[in-house]
Amino acid sequence: MTNPTTTKRIALITGANKGLGFEIARQLGQQHHTVLVGARDAERGERAAQHLRGEGLDAHFVPLAVTSDASVTAAATLIEERFGRLDVLVNNAGISLDDAPPSQLSFERLIETYDTNVFGVVRVTQALLPLLRRSDRARIVNMGSAMGSLTYTSDPENMRSGILLLAYASSKAALHSVTVQFANELRAEGIKVNVADPGYAPTDLSGGQGFNTIEEGAGPAVRLATLDENGPTATILALEGVIPW
Ligand code: NDP
Repeated sequence: MTNPTTTKRIALITGANKGLGFEIARQLGQQHHTVLVGARDAERGERAAQHLRGEGLDAHFVPLAVTSDASVTAAATLIEERFGRLDVLVNNAGISLDDAPPSQLSFERLIETYDTNVFGVVRVTQALLPLLRRSDRARIVNMGSAMGSLTYTSDPENMRSGILLLAYASSKAALHSVTVQFANELRAEGIKVNVADPGYAPTDLSGGQGFNTIEEGAGPAVRLATLDENGPTATILALEGVIPW
């Protein structure tokens, strides 16, 4: 069992080489966590971890492609061997591939989106649960989206209600349900499972023109709200598990 007052908590963030995932990693690192930077590309992942270490944070790259069973299993093995347990899992990796309106969207795009945004979360969560069960205060945070909310996408007053994102929006709606299902199962074990639904942030995914891509010598322009700012950020959920599922 871990003693949270004396031991650094260990947090894995998937898709943490850039964007919101990178910022969550940074914020958790600043909040006394050892952060495991999950990334599917070794160069990008190592560069992000180095960047965080340069800021004095305890960060380590973990190879992790959320669509690959073999990669996810290897990541679980690596984390077990090097760290022995996991306290926080942030399922952040996500893609948005809609390139056509719903009536014309290809099943290829749909399946690819679900394989990352929905099945990837289930795959990673299942593989890492044995390590999370070794923590005395485990937290899982899934990165949903305001786009996954029925009220958000159907409100005629909402400026963005007309956005056509069948694959992305429905995958995030499915993720809400995935979150509740895991929360239902794990509540009795004291593992809190939450979903964070951010609004727009200018990242590569949202067409932010690469604002947040971590290049040598360049810092990311996007950040999450800090703990004293508004809104339940993934960081707060990871630290506190504020929603008592
Ligand atoms: P980015 O495109 O900046 O980052 C996405 C991250 O996910 C990258 O690190 C990417 O890796 C990684 N990734 C994608 N597919 C895989 C995979 N198969 N295996 C491992 N890693 C993968 O996007 P954001 O930071 O904007 O998005 C992060 C999360 O936040 C997503 O779940 C997104 O849906 C959600 N979100 C974003 C919003 C926004 O406005 N930006 C709003 C609401 C929610 P690589 O660099 O190798 O491609």
